[in-house]
Amino acid sequence: MTSMNQQSGKNGPIEQYDVMVIGAGVSGMYALHHLRQMGLSVRVYDGASDIGGTWWYNRYPGARVDGPGSPFYSYTFSEELIQEWDWEETQSEQSAVLAYLEHVADRFDLRRDIQFDTWVQDARYDEATQRWTVETDTGVHASAPFLICAVGALSTANMPDIPGIHDFAGECYHTGRWPHEPVSFEGKRVAVIGTGSSGIQSIPEIAREAEHVTVLQRTPQYAFPAGNRPITPEERADARTNWDSFVAKMRSNFGGFPYDNQPRSALEDTPEQREALYEELWQRGSFKFFLDLYSDIATSEEANQSLADFVRAKIRKIVHDPVTAKKLLPDYFVITKRPILEDGYFETFNRDNVSLVDLREDPIERFTRTSVVTRSGEHPIDMLVLATGFDAISGSMLRLNPKGRGGMSLAEKWKDRFHNYLGLTVAGFPNLFMIHGPGSPGVFYNMPLGAERQMDWIGRCLRHLDEQELGAIEPLADSEEAWGAEVSALANATLFPRTDSWWTGANVPGKPRYFSVYLGGSIYYQRIYDMADNGYQGFVFEKENQPGNAEAS
Ligand SMILES: Cc1cc2nc3c(=O)[nH]c(=O)nc-3n(C[C@H](O)[C@H](O)[C@H](O)COP(=O)(O)OP(=O)(O)OC[C@H]3O[C@@H](n4cnc5c(N)ncnc54)[C@H](O)[C@@H]3O)c2cc1C
Repeated sequence: MTSMNQQSGKNGPIEQYDVMVIGAGVSGMYALHHLRQMGLSVRVYDGASDIGGTWWYNRYPGARVDGPGSPFYSYTFSEELIQEWDWEETQSEQSAVLAYLEHVADRFDLRRDIQFDTWVQDARYDEATQRWTVETDTGVHASAPFLICAVGALSTANMPDIPGIHDFAGECYHTGRWPHEPVSFEGKRVAVIGTGSSGIQSIPEIAREAEHVTVLQRTPQYAFPAGNRPITPEERADARTNWDSFVAKMRSNFGGFPYDNQPRSALEDTPEQREALYEELWQRGSFKFFLDLYSDIATSEEANQSLADFVRAKIRKIVHDPVTAKKLLPDYFVITKRPILEDGYFETFNRDNVSLVDLREDPIERFTRTSVVTRSGEHPIDMLVLATGFDAISGSMLRLNPKGRGGMSLAEKWKDRFHNYLGLTVAGFPNLFMIHGPGSPGVFYNMPLGAERQMDWIGRCLRHLDEQELGAIEPLADSEEAWGAEVSALANATLFPRTDSWWTGANVPGKPRYFSVYLGGSIYYQRIYDMADNGYQGFVFEKENQPGNAEAS
């Protein structure tokens, strides 16, 4: 393999690396570290001004980890990191996660190979040289045999297209692009569109300060108590002393967490027993609610109904005004949208300064310079908060829109749905790898751990190519179709695809509706390693500098 140098192209010098990585979030940072350990020259590009991705952008009030959080929302590759970093809370707030990632960047001296404030505008594969070239908005022109896209499954902000929205003259912020300077809500009339995770985390915080908050709700949500609390010294010591066994458990657990899987069906229990379990989990709170649930909540309509009824009863009990409570009652299969953790969300609707507009019966007609107009009338506002989420999972890859063999664009290839193999590679796009791409466990898995595990596989694949003097790898089209069918079959055995969600692409107008997460959990990692052990089944290789000289595997 080559090391970093420069060649001249028609637009000036072309920087040469072994690997280029797009994205310096949790995934890209680990990719850089891992590839460096392999002795490769690496360049990372990120449009943001520093490391952190999600945790750099999402600074809205209330933003925090909501998975079974710290210390398990962290890297596992270095035991020193767990020994030396003091997580304070079970669900760390954004600034704490960012501080941790900054520590990682310092400790492993990552920033020297990352180019910030640099947006990759074009990425193209050249079949003759078996190399990718990228061009950035800062005029960088660089080339490498391998391109790793760590562009983020929740990175491309979903901006609503509502008549007049650009005329609104007040402050307007998207939760996923929150300003770095403090935002004051004091004395302001604030409208929030969206009640997904970001809306539900931020609304109680905004309501504490604002003069008035108008929640513009498109979909009522099931939300569960966050149960955030300080990590006890005993828990911290336990994680440190028994880190190896924690990591082993995380790697074998379905979702990548250090817990046992719950094997019991809801239908084995009586309604009273179910109620008792739900109540116990509700009182304890945290994402562990979902991990300790019955095994068939997402597959049996009857089991699902029992939990949905439980949550709806809780909402009715918490929210004093029955008309508002009714509007807040969700009517889809529970947990078939990304489960949401809340801290005082439903109670917020008992405040005098909060009102709820159900957009299904009272839709937004337009914005003016000073208000939002819904069918029932005008709501004067000073600030608009767009908690409208992301063009998730495939959105950032489509925005990058790399060009593969023959100049084919990814947008063209994915116009009806994503086509890829293992959620990692794409036919017609040799030597391109995705982390947390569509068709991988991605957002259904502990994401830092998932990034490490996918990246380790990519590293091993690059080593294989080097040792075998191979110049390019790409999946066969048939492998992609079989993988897509497997992803669908797993999803169709559940209730997930029956609900509109960002997992299905339904939150973005015009996006093909397709459930795009591999629901096999940790089995996935076994699968991809087995395929590698069996000579990279489903892939085709080219010898170095001999394009067209393909060898199927
Ligand atoms: C509020 C919030 C809470 C979350 N909580 C959890 C949780 O509790 N547990 C969990 O597992 N996950 C959680 N997630 C998911 C989170 O996104 C992942 O855990 C993880 O941070 C993703 O890291 P990443 O590096 O893959 O992507 P990102 O952090 O999204 O980073 C991608 C980077 O790529 C850059 N980029 C993209 N395209 C280009 C381009 N063309 N040119 C240059 N740069 C580009 C972006 O600027 C960005 O910095 C949460 C997400 C959000 C939004």
